Amino acid sequence: MEVNPKVIRRTKIVATVGPASESEDLIARLIGAGVNVFRLNFSHGTTEKHVKVAERIRKQASIAGQYVGILADLQGPKIRVGAFRNGSIELDVGDRFRLDLELEDDAGDIRGVGVDYAELCDNVVRGDTLLLDDGRIRLRADDVEASAVECTVLVGGQLSSRKGINRLGGGLAAPALTAKDLTDIDSLVEVNPDFVAISFVSDAEDIFQARGRLEQLNLKPAIIAKIERAEVVGDESILHAVLTAADGVMVARGDLGVEVGDAQLIGIQKELITQARKLDRVVITATQMMESMINSPMPTRAEVFDVANAVLDGTDAVMLSAETAVGNYPVEVVSAMADAALGAERQRVAKTSKYRLDTAFSNAQETIAMSAIYAANHYDNVRGIACLTESGTTPRLMSRLSSGLPIFALSHLSTTLQQLALCRGVVPLFFDADAFDPNSVDSRAIEFLLDGGFLSKGDSILLTKGTVLGTAGSTNIMKILPAY
Ligand code: PGA
Ligand code: MN
Repeated sequence: MEVNPKVIRRTKIVATVGPASESEDLIARLIGAGVNVFRLNFSHGTTEKHVKVAERIRKQASIAGQYVGILADLQGPKIRVGAFRNGSIELDVGDRFRLDLELEDDAGDIRGVGVDYAELCDNVVRGDTLLLDDGRIRLRADDVEASAVECTVLVGGQLSSRKGINRLGGGLAAPALTAKDLTDIDSLVEVNPDFVAISFVSDAEDIFQARGRLEQLNLKPAIIAKIERAEVVGDESILHAVLTAADGVMVARGDLGVEVGDAQLIGIQKELITQARKLDRVVITATQMMESMINSPMPTRAEVFDVANAVLDGTDAVMLSAETAVGNYPVEVVSAMADAALGAERQRVAKTSKYRLDTAFSNAQETIAMSAIYAANHYDNVRGIACLTESGTTPRLMSRLSSGLPIFALSHLSTTLQQLALCRGVVPLFFDADAFDPNSVDSRAIEFLLDGGFLSKGDSILLTKGTVLGTAGSTNIMKILPAY
């Protein structure tokens, strides 16, 4: 019987776990709806909780027979106001309001609030715009005193305890890895994440420091640099160094958008995605993608288009934050996001590529990876690419180029497969090449894909592998094989 191969979504979905999604049942349903990577947000929750949730994710992924990644997102040096005596206050346009370093942490009221950032008065000048709570509240700095900034409210609203502060244009910066981040890194031994995200990265050194500490613990997660500082996107050489040092980036639109303004963010998103792919880095587009679905069972059309545009920009993954962490429709929002991504992927621009025609390749592995995508995109009979892989490098390189064809990453290493869960167009599948006679591995791989419904009889498949199976970095063979 002829069966049509499954429609495979190429764009990956990262979902933040929180009270609305941390039960076994919800995790299972979210995997069923299409989550590829779960994000544990270290700005909230205890170590014990993260460890427990990670265990649930591993268990449910294995029940579902899928490779799902875990991303530990460290809090970083987000600068925040202190607490209000009554939990929150209401600010009106024209009100005077003090950010006061000497005020006790929980003594905030309508006149002012404490701030946990000792350098505040050195880094703010008269006339600056300060943005609170992701930009919902705007203050103008009128007077910078020795230990307080006296402000006028430009845009008012409710302000509750511990909301973030940004300065329009950037410049409020503390060192990226805080004492809490370092302690959290140490606690990752039990979580064993596939990815670690570093917040408010300010230079490549932050990435080296995190990687060094993780290596001491014998952990080798991919490191994702969150790009959320105006200073980093404003300096080409710092940005390049950060992208090169990290394994991937997050377009952290929440903080970045507040610092640079949304109008600027449109171009920055495109530029970051393009640069990341050029440098063989994976990229996640994050924050407020389907925000209205926190309270609504349906996305707005604008949100559908926002997800679609990130897909057309070339992102590997789109991310959900509050939508799945605390929202009322965690499963529905994942389905809605998956539909939007699939709609965008049907567009021609999402399937073609410039093939790096003008660049030289640096090794056999990269040459095979690039040639494979070129061949597969140009030869109609080829319905997919199968990579026998150890480290995952070949399929990851392939997925830097656009194609409409699935890249089946066949590996016996769950760590490799879980990291590949984030790469656009890559389908991570367990396949132990060593279990077969080397002469029959190719036909076993094809059989495996036919049995899984990933191919139909009569299709051709492009297969890559190394002469010596089971050795990382050795891919040097590319074959086109019929599937019978
Ligand atoms: P956050 O990071 O949700 O941890 O702040 C993402 C962003 O700023 O967009
Ligand atoms: Mn942020």
